[in-house]
Amino acid sequence: MNDLLKEYQERMFNISAYELAVTTVNLDSQTIAPPKGSDYRNDRLAYLAGELYSLQTDERLFVLIKELIDRDDTNQDIKKILYWQLKNLENMRCIPKDFYVEYSKLQMESQQNWETAKRNNDYGLFAPYLEKIIVMTKKILEYRQGELKGYDILLDDYEPGMNTEKYDKFFDLIREKLVPLIQKINHSPQIDDSFIYKNYPIYKQKIMMNKILEYIDFDFAAGVLLESEHPFTESISKYDNRITTHYYENNLISSMYSVIHEAGHANYNYSVRDDIAQTFCFNNMSSGMHESQSRLFENYLGRNYHFWDNLFPTLKELFPEQLAQTDQDKFIRAVNKVTPSLIRTEADELTYPLHILIRYEIEKGLFDGSIETKDLENIWNAKYKQYLGLTVPNAAEGILQDVHWSDGSFGYFPTYALGSSYAAQFMQAMSKDLDIDKCLAENEFSLLKKWLREHIHQYGGLYSPQQQIEIACGEKYNPQYYIDYLINKYSALYNL
Ligand code: ZN
Repeated sequence: MNDLLKEYQERMFNISAYELAVTTVNLDSQTIAPPKGSDYRNDRLAYLAGELYSLQTDERLFVLIKELIDRDDTNQDIKKILYWQLKNLENMRCIPKDFYVEYSKLQMESQQNWETAKRNNDYGLFAPYLEKIIVMTKKILEYRQGELKGYDILLDDYEPGMNTEKYDKFFDLIREKLVPLIQKINHSPQIDDSFIYKNYPIYKQKIMMNKILEYIDFDFAAGVLLESEHPFTESISKYDNRITTHYYENNLISSMYSVIHEAGHANYNYSVRDDIAQTFCFNNMSSGMHESQSRLFENYLGRNYHFWDNLFPTLKELFPEQLAQTDQDKFIRAVNKVTPSLIRTEADELTYPLHILIRYEIEKGLFDGSIETKDLENIWNAKYKQYLGLTVPNAAEGILQDVHWSDGSFGYFPTYALGSSYAAQFMQAMSKDLDIDKCLAENEFSLLKKWLREHIHQYGGLYSPQQQIEIACGEKYNPQYYIDYLINKYSALYNL
């Protein structure tokens, strides 16, 4: 190993030590830490975050990365890792430090005000902060001088290679093909899912969660399931994956599907190749790629009939009275039921992309100047009427429902729908090599994970999403797989 590489790796080790501390404290705050200790924790956390920022943006690290990229004796995979890291660093460094600090402060204030506004159901409390966040985000886009402009910069941040033109085509397809299908379903006899909302004691739900994790071959020595307000995954390292869920006594499936979803995220990081796992590319997968793996677990596998061949008997044993009238067939129909609803995170698989389409259209309008912040709430409500046929009764169930805009995460939403569509294509490719239903029915979930590891997970974030799709599927990204999957599945379910 040459001296430059050695120096680079030492610096990266130091950075990872700070990252470990910051992530662990954050995770602790969101799960088990007592609320009264938050001021003490947050002050120290802010200090650590500042130190981390200094280490990450240090001029020497920047120089080392550039020199290593230029050297002929640098290994090709390391060059790829350095390329992604350099891209990330350049985006950070072009923003003046004073501005960065001011923006970070605004993000925290804005998020707090969003929470208050949501609790009080009053968009007016949040609107001025959102306005400021948008103004400052536009300023950041000015600092980010490069080939890309405006909203495209943000889209590319979350999903390298994506831009307005490509997303427009994707969402056109969704608008054109899925809206009529949903309308047809709305006029069809509806599936009875009332059993889902009976009383399911949480201690029994927890037993079920362990059964599900065992079935999907979750490595309990390298991961743990915790509880939090909103489910999430934090992969501290390859062998330290934390997933969380939220239990509801009157909902049988909410927690189960969030666990399957988060386990999909965790499994991605868990399966990254050892020589990549301790580098920048352990966790720089695009948002769409990461979401493709969680949705693949949750929807494509978890809502498959055969996923439950081994698990449904356990579910029935745990809840004999609640499920007395429910067989596996009725259960599967219920977990796949389509109903237009107000809240994105509770949406079914088919109406979900419309929630994203609405947010995409609004974000695009905000950044091309065709939508003003003061009109946002009305525009939001009008789009829910237009696409989902729903009247939004209040801001908390409307424009205030998501946290994303409060901290300036514009460009993130579209990756949720895109990830679902990647998953359809990955499933198609996997089905050429494996009998997926058979693997599920015969308790061979590990075979599916092996396929995902070999074709996708092992590489971490080494490749762009487009390259990764070609590696796994042998062809370019094609959203038609997603559309076909949804049309076939739901036409059959609703006898259309
Ligand atoms: Zn997710």
